[in-house]
Amino acid sequence: MAVRKQAGKKGAAAGGGHRLATDCVPVEYDLHVEVDPQDGDAYRGEVTLLLRLAQARHSVELHADALQITSARVEVGERTQQGSVRLRPDRETAVISFREALPAGIARLRIAFRSTLRSDLRGLYKARSGERRYAFTQLEAADARRFFPCFDEPAFKARFRVAVTTAVTNTVLANSPVGWEESAGEGRKTVHFLPTPPLSTYLVALAVGPLESSPPTRCGTTEIRVWHVPGKGALTAFSLEVARETLARLEKYFDLPYPYAKLDLVAAPDFEAGAMENAGAVFFRETLLLVDPDTVTLGEKKRVGEVICHELAHMWYGDLVTMAWWDDLWLNEAFATWMAFQIVDDWKPEWKMWQEFEKGRSAALSLDALASTHPIYTTVSTPAEATANFDLITYEKGAAVVRMLERYLGPKPFRAGVRA
Ligand SMILES: [Zn+2]
Repeated sequence: MAVRKQAGKKGAAAGGGHRLATDCVPVEYDLHVEVDPQDGDAYRGEVTLLLRLAQARHSVELHADALQITSARVEVGERTQQGSVRLRPDRETAVISFREALPAGIARLRIAFRSTLRSDLRGLYKARSGERRYAFTQLEAADARRFFPCFDEPAFKARFRVAVTTAVTNTVLANSPVGWEESAGEGRKTVHFLPTPPLSTYLVALAVGPLESSPPTRCGTTEIRVWHVPGKGALTAFSLEVARETLARLEKYFDLPYPYAKLDLVAAPDFEAGAMENAGAVFFRETLLLVDPDTVTLGEKKRVGEVICHELAHMWYGDLVTMAWWDDLWLNEAFATWMAFQIVDDWKPEWKMWQEFEKGRSAALSLDALASTHPIYTTVSTPAEATANFDLITYEKGAAVVRMLERYLGPKPFRAGVRA
């Protein structure tokens, strides 16, 4: 994420301090959601999880919070069993138990659920622009569990096949390109997205509502689009230029192509953080993506350039290569913060980006002088503790340490280490 500079993002997520078992892991999610934000807040979904069990077990525990689970059944080979569901609000989980043990190997768990669009800008939440209504996701650090039942820890990466049924007048965006659309009757359609590469749950994205896009621009084979509420098409040119120019430089630095099939930059009319690096579908607050070429200041251009590049750096730092747990959040945020200055400076040396960097470092040092400071690497046991670490210490102090290391080792050996 790109956070607001003035305030660390303090979360209120409850956490039981316990992790899920590691002998039952998701391989693939088939997620179908029916949602129409123009037609009320209720939504429902069905998720089919392909699970790999290392040993036989009678129950499966996965994350689910503020979701009504209406049915759960498991298929193993030819056999199907209904499960009984017990919610554990203290752990933000559901435990699904089966009369007959599930053997080691592959099991297919199908869960139907209902919920409502949230009003607190996390999970699958409602947003509005004038009379138009939208649904957006914001799932980092641990709010995917408030959208659909899932294994909501970053190490549990899996492929996602997402389908959404909604009114034909809504645009639907997700992490991967649309595979096909079909009519769902009564003025509705179902949009099927192509399967994603393995993703952590916190990087899943969904946007539903009346959105318009810029014409695509390309970086190599990657199509880049800026999406916005209707009528703001004149404000997209600068962001498209930043994305194209910085993506090309990031690919060169990492010596690895952009890892996803397309790149959508989406301006959300209601958004808490600065931006969120959902794989292939980065969400921004409007002021950090939509720029009026007639009135923009140099300072605003630098900030927009830095934030877009920060999020695109995450496509490698965090999305492709992911920390196993939130204690290593700095590996995402310190590196993405440093990288944005590195890349934007390479693109626009006349902007003197490293002078901006000093401001962030100074702010971090002020926070670091307080008794409440914390190490860049911090032990984390609960989602709330993870969320509390999205602050100047993790981002700006972390980035200053990364810069110090890069200067000490030299740019080429450092880059070789990053590539390795
Ligand atoms: Zn970030």
